[in-house]
Amino acid sequence: MNIITPVHACCAHHFEPDHLDATVSSLFTASGVDGVYGRSGAYESAVEALAALISRHRPDGAEVYRFPPVMPRASLEKQGYLQSFPNLIGAVSTLTGSEREISRSAAKHEAGGDWTEDLKPSDLVLAPAACYPIYPIAAARGIVPADGYVFDVAADCFRHEPSRQVDRFQSFRMREYVRIGTPAQIQAFRDPWVERAKGIADAIGLSYSVDVANDPFFGRVGAMMANQQREDALKFELLVPVRSAESPTACMSFNYHKEHFGEVWGLHNDAGELMHTGCVAFGMDRLAVALFVTHGAKISDWPASVRAALNL
Ligand code: AMP
Ligand code: ZN
Repeated sequence: MNIITPVHACCAHHFEPDHLDATVSSLFTASGVDGVYGRSGAYESAVEALAALISRHRPDGAEVYRFPPVMPRASLEKQGYLQSFPNLIGAVSTLTGSEREISRSAAKHEAGGDWTEDLKPSDLVLAPAACYPIYPIAAARGIVPADGYVFDVAADCFRHEPSRQVDRFQSFRMREYVRIGTPAQIQAFRDPWVERAKGIADAIGLSYSVDVANDPFFGRVGAMMANQQREDALKFELLVPVRSAESPTACMSFNYHKEHFGEVWGLHNDAGELMHTGCVAFGMDRLAVALFVTHGAKISDWPASVRAALNL
């Protein structure tokens, strides 16, 4: 299957740095921390419109779950995140103890000291992906039915990758369709989704290419895992020229995890087969930024066809 699509040349004039700066500064307000911004009303209406458009493509029978921005630390540990992406983790820590102990810790700040030395890790981490909480939920139901599962999930995600680039946030919204089933069921889910996603990108006037990709696995062992992932074509991305045509931005990803989550959480069907999983992830904030960079800062100036597709 050839799913490599050339980037359309027609939009090259949209990627002047000036244009980018002016567009983005109207959407975001700095918080003082790179990759964390206040978002304008116009920007949020685009995010909401994108979410509604993606919902109109919801697979039949998909069960909807919405997750908070935190998830159990034990889940992250169990699924091997510490081996794969320890550099991206954000963990919740809190002040615990008696009222006296907490007061003493808090008072350190006023006194010019470091109150954070008293923070203790809690049982929560910030969710780095929207699909992670769904696998233990599915596993807790017992035997996976013959048709497998399809889920529609979303969460505010955190990845510790501070950056000033317009397409990289520390806190961002992720929407996903997740499939749990046999290898054949996962393949029958993922491959058509690549085509469907191209259709969505076409409808909202984004230039794109689809290419094989890898996750940014950590360290030297990680580099080998990344190579293997590419070789096995387990991850594809839909890339949009946001900052430049030379280094386009991954706005959606199409992932086949094979038996990884099935093994971790004990997902089996009636025949005792280990279940495979896959997901289609939409980077809501990257898609929204791509829309504004491509079509301009004012939604009312966007092409009529794009506004119609988004009901904007
Ligand atoms: P991944 O699990 O890395 O494939 O992430 C799924 C999607 O989330 C990506 O295709 C991006 O659109 C989005 N995403 C990942 N990391 C970031 C980030 N740091 N800032 C904004 N969006 C991101
Ligand atoms: Zn996922």
